[in-house]
Amino acid sequence: MQLLTDRLKASPKLLLDGSMGALMMAKGFNGPSIYGANFAHTDVVSGLHRSYFEAGADMVLTNTFSLTGHILSAIGKSAADTVKMAVEAAQIAREGFSGKYIALDLAPCDLSGNEAEQYYMERISAAAGLVDCIFFETYSDSGELKLAIQIARSICSLPVFASMTFNENMASWKGEMLGEAIASVAAERPDAIGINCTLSPSEMLGLIDSLIQAAGGIQTLCEPNRGMPEYIDGEAKYLLSAQDFASGVEAIYSKGVHIVGGCCGSDPECIRLISQRLF
Ligand SMILES: [Zn+2]
Repeated sequence: MQLLTDRLKASPKLLLDGSMGALMMAKGFNGPSIYGANFAHTDVVSGLHRSYFEAGADMVLTNTFSLTGHILSAIGKSAADTVKMAVEAAQIAREGFSGKYIALDLAPCDLSGNEAEQYYMERISAAAGLVDCIFFETYSDSGELKLAIQIARSICSLPVFASMTFNENMASWKGEMLGEAIASVAAERPDAIGINCTLSPSEMLGLIDSLIQAAGGIQTLCEPNRGMPEYIDGEAKYLLSAQDFASGVEAIYSKGVHIVGGCCGSDPECIRLISQRLF
């Protein structure tokens, strides 16, 4: 199979998957059991990945977003075993397709120093050799993201995608501003850099020019949320239509962001519509 780096050189277009957590919750999983499902319900995790591949996604992100110590002790598994099992679920989903990629998905761990290094070392080492990409997303702290990229580079030569999250005023939860934060992460030369979560496609659109400018020539990526959830009977419902989501992503793509997918609330239908419009 064509390596992801070669594929990206040939064409910057890449369709990512949509949300995993929201779909797992809709299937009755919550908190640690979302990650325990990699072992106990591999077929469910694999089935969700497969539905994204079928919808047209070129790459899926493993069910490993938040493997904190708390979650691992709740499911009674090690980080390495959980990563390996999650990768296996994605590999099962990929069977029968060609030209499809799997990324190890990691989110902020909110640790620092040796603890943070250890966190990333364990998870990336377990996946290196098994996946096509290391994908860091939803970061509010550029310092942690830079550390994560450096550790990934020290362990493997896989492509690294790095994504931060900002509000409409272009500030992260830690108070960093998009331009400075993205430029600082771009200096680590990830293979793609971008923004995900927090905003709907139409809200994210206003951040794109600044993102592309700060990225300094590095490929950019975007994964918006399907709007803000409304809580109906305690359950998060994303009410933005798949059509509106897809046209919002199309507008982002038209500005020059050619690696796109969805974050919270997006589903295979959203990805299918983006695939039909743009890929
Ligand atoms: Zn999100």
